[in-house]
Amino acid sequence: MDVSQTENTKNHQITMLSLPQSIQDKLSGLKLGKELIKTSQPHEAMFLVLTCLNLFELLTLSRVCRLLKDAIDDDILLWLDIVVESPLNMRINDDKLLKFTSKAQGRLRSLILMNCVRITDDGLHKIIENNPHLEKLYIPSCTQLTPDGVVRVVKSLTDQSNKLKFLRLENVHNLTEEHLQIFHSCLKINPEEQKPKVYLSYGLFPALSDTNAIDVEVCPKCKDVKLVFECPRETCRSKNKRPLQACKGCLLCIPRCEGCGGCVDVDETGETACLDVVCLDCWLQLPKCNLCNKPYCHRHADNIQWSPPYSSGFVCDTCSAEMEQWLASPC
Ligand SMILES: [Zn+2]
Ligand SMILES: [Zn+2]
Ligand SMILES: [Zn+2]
Ligand SMILES: [Zn+2]
Ligand SMILES: [Zn+2]
Repeated sequence: MDVSQTENTKNHQITMLSLPQSIQDKLSGLKLGKELIKTSQPHEAMFLVLTCLNLFELLTLSRVCRLLKDAIDDDILLWLDIVVESPLNMRINDDKLLKFTSKAQGRLRSLILMNCVRITDDGLHKIIENNPHLEKLYIPSCTQLTPDGVVRVVKSLTDQSNKLKFLRLENVHNLTEEHLQIFHSCLKINPEEQKPKVYLSYGLFPALSDTNAIDVEVCPKCKDVKLVFECPRETCRSKNKRPLQACKGCLLCIPRCEGCGGCVDVDETGETACLDVVCLDCWLQLPKCNLCNKPYCHRHADNIQWSPPYSSGFVCDTCSAEMEQWLASPC
């Protein structure tokens, strides 16, 4: 190995170490490191690894060396379904998104923008004009987008190719029933045929687990266009002549238990360490903090730092912080 090769290997190792652990694991499993700098062609197996990476990992990897950058940029299959989520979502703007989507060379199939707060109506429209065959457009909590901007985008897509099948609009503000009717007509949806949603099955990424063509609907209580849930409680189903209707509503109108998704009366909920709403039945079953006796809901149960095996239970974040403060204060 000559001097330049040694230097090259050293640089490569340094850059590999700076990669996120998930990428290092995937690459080291395939022993790609040496192959990548020895040959002018990337190892075949690398293309398999690339398909498993998310956008953030792909962009990080493409900064390792020219060879990887070209391999990633030129592989159109990697760019047909673009998902922008944390940590990229807060940083990505119209220009950057246009650059990434242009790698699909007009063949973008799905564009999923989770909480991308810097994307504007004009930016999205430009991308859509270049990619008329989009089948999925998910823009939940993209707060700069306006209902009229989204209507323009959806109309433009359906005018050009009519392939759009799924639209996710949770937390796009000021949507009205009229906007919703336009979306139904563009996507040829009969709103009566949409499946009822239960809060429990929604989880952390509601937009991804819903199988309906459009996620939002008109809340029967407040008439706003939002995510609307029905009740899984047997008692609610049997009580009402029109099952599932009475406690159907958005989360502001009908608060729901994080544990079972059932409707709850706010006066009859158990206190939680994460401040989420939990019904008394679910509250009784959840493990409690050793000091304040409050549980975390299922969604936040990952926060639990279990005490060592010789003691049982856990101490919640609030109690831990209070304890640390108390220990640090002078007696
Ligand atoms: Zn409502
Ligand atoms: Zn419950
Ligand atoms: Zn109910
Ligand atoms: Zn506590
Ligand atoms: Zn919680």
